[in-house]
Formats: sequence, structure tokens, C-alpha cells
Amino acid sequence: MLRAGIVGLPNVGKSTLFNALTRSHKAEAANYPFCTITPNVGVVEVPDPRLVRLAELSRSQRRIPAAIELVDIAGLVAGASQGEGLGNQFLAHIREVDAVIHLVRCFTGAEVHHVAGSVDPVRDIEIIHTELALADLATLERQREKNRKGPQSRADARSSLLSGWMEKATEILNRGAPLFSVGWTAEEKEALRPFHLLTMKPALYACNVAEEELCQGIQNPLVQGVAQLLEGRSDSELVVLSSQLEAELPNLLPEERQSYLQTLGVAESGVDGLIRATYRLLGLRTYFTTGEKETRAWTIRAGDRAPQAAGVIHTDFERGFIAAECASFEEMDRFGSFPRLREAGKLRVEGKDYVVADGDVIEFRFNV
Ligand code: GDP
Repeated sequence: MLRAGIVGLPNVGKSTLFNALTRSHKAEAANYPFCTITPNVGVVEVPDPRLVRLAELSRSQRRIPAAIELVDIAGLVAGASQGEGLGNQFLAHIREVDAVIHLVRCFTGAEVHHVAGSVDPVRDIEIIHTELALADLATLERQREKNRKGPQSRADARSSLLSGWMEKATEILNRGAPLFSVGWTAEEKEALRPFHLLTMKPALYACNVAEEELCQGIQNPLVQGVAQLLEGRSDSELVVLSSQLEAELPNLLPEERQSYLQTLGVAESGVDGLIRATYRLLGLRTYFTTGEKETRAWTIRAGDRAPQAAGVIHTDFERGFIAAECASFEEMDRFGSFPRLREAGKLRVEGKDYVVADGDVIEFRFNV
């Protein structure tokens, strides 16, 4: 299962958000047997109204949503790359995640101390970017050192290509930009992957605003500053939320939640959007299986073909793959069941080269 890590300066609300999410969106552990859950690692469900609708159509006994792992990564302070604070330990935790959620403080309020003395999300992001960039520069330098000392046979075309890409990465970092903000070919990404560069990971910026300011959304002046900083950068997203509100919502009855959100002038708390955006950022897509026993969302990577998608259910399905009978969610929503889709001539039969689309509802045919 892919992992996203929540990072940010101390006191920006990371633990509050992590605890709230792992409570309000907690995935049933029995459905995800291979996940380790520790105090700072949790599995959260990806909210998806399509799953609810399909389960309704099939009168399923249970629904199993897609899920991702979230990690609360504490300990980043200015100087972390030099070993300040939890320093290296913190950086090692980021190396292990597939995407980074930067939580930035946009709530004011003198009662909560800010490590840098004032609330300034753009400065905070820059502090973090600098630490991550310095760590990446150190990684690249170490690698160059290793290559210099390496055996002569390494001096082939491949390694000179790699050196060129490492130079490119170093230049970008020296310009002060995170690596993910620049276009990389799949080949370059693959070659640099073993170095686990921190600023290469896709990133999402979550602005933590005061509850009563949630309704301003992106118009909040502090959020505007963050939006401007991110302008023109591919591969990054911005979400506005209130971690304090998120911590309060699970204490309310479901019917009270909606009216409380209404009094704040918002339709949802922002956290559903955060999880969905993280899922997308991780390059993940969902297809569904549905029946009386269960309706389930399965996670695949963008670009996966039908046999690989079948393999997510069981490796035998991939090996014995014959065909995928499928329809889009919208068509299933319209026709209601596989037999009715078939009758209407709307059920597609796809072969092994079919690239599964997000929202496909599928029944696999396979040899066992
Ligand atoms: P972390 O160090 O980033 O993990 O921050 P915490 O989640 O421990 O929060 C630090 C302090 O800020 C705690 O006292 C929280 O109650 C408070 N806090 C977190 N989020 C909010 C918020 O949205 N609004 C306000 N006013 N306080 C918050």
C-alpha cells in the first residue's frame, strides 16, 4: 500500500490532523491485512461516493473502500539537514514515503506558539524546502563521491548519462527549486529513484486555517500567498482545511456534523478532498467489483492494463486472465447491473492490452 507522510514545522497541527484522520477515516484493519499500524502510521479510507452508489445498486452486504497509509512525521526544524532537532531520523522517515503532504499553518492565535515567532506560511514552506533540498544535495554529493571511487568499468555510456542527470538535479536544487517542480522523463526518474531524493516526491500543500476562516477557501490572504508560491508548478496541489474542526467532527453525531459545517459556511471539512488529492498525487486509480456479497474499490496505478488490475485481486487472476467485462461507473449507475448492461449492449469485453480507466466496474474472466 502506498504511503503519504505529513510534514511541517512543529505546532502547525500535524498530530491533530493525523489523529483526527485516523479516527474519522479509519480503515477496518481486517480488510488490509498487510499493513503495519503503529502510533504514527495509520490506514485511512479514501472516501468515494461511487462505491456507496454501487453497493446500493447491488444490495451488497459490505463495502470495502480503497485505502492509503498515512504517516505523521514529526521533527522538522530549520537545520534538520545538519542534524538539528530529530534531523536525520526525520529525513529517513520522508525517504520511506511515496508522497509528501506539507501541512502549513495559516491559523493565527497567540495561544499556540509558532517556532519562528510569527505566522507566515510562505516562509515556513521555504524553510522546509531548504532543508529537503540541502539533504538532496548531500545525497547527490555522496553518490558522486562513490562513483569517483567506483571501478573503472562504471565509466560506460549509462553512467555518463546518469552523471548528467545528477548534474541537472544539482543545478535545480542550487536554484532553490524542489526537484518535483521540473519535468523529468520516465527514464530519468527511474535512474534517480535509488537515491530516494526527498524533493523528487510529489507534494501536496495543505493550508491549516482557523475553523471560522474555512469558508474563505483560497481567498484567505495567507492561503493566497501559498497559491502564488506554487503557481506554475506541475505535480503539486493545494488544499484548504482546518485540523481543529477535523478533530471536533468525530465527537458530533452524524446529523449534527452537517449542520455544524453549514454554520461554518462549508459543504465539507476539506479532509475528504485532502485524501482524494493525495490518492491522485500518488498516481493511483480505482476500479470496482460489485455483487451481493461486497462492493469493493481496488487500487491500481495510472496506466495499468487489465491483467495487472486483475492481479491486484489475486495473482491467479493475472496469470489466467482471459478478458475483462467492464463498464464505466456512469453506465453502471444508469443501467444498474451487469445483466442489464449486457442486454443494452453496453457491456464491453476488453482484452489484455486494455488500460483500465478510473471508475471502471469490472468482472474478470480467467482460467484457473
Ligand atoms: P504538530 O506539532 O504539528 O504535530 O502540532 P499539533 O497537532 O500538536 O498542534 C499544536 C498545537 O496547535 C496544539 O495545541 C493544537 O491544539 C493547536 N492546533 C492545531 N491545529 C489547530 C487549528 O487549526 N487551530 C488552532 N487554533 N489551533 C490548532
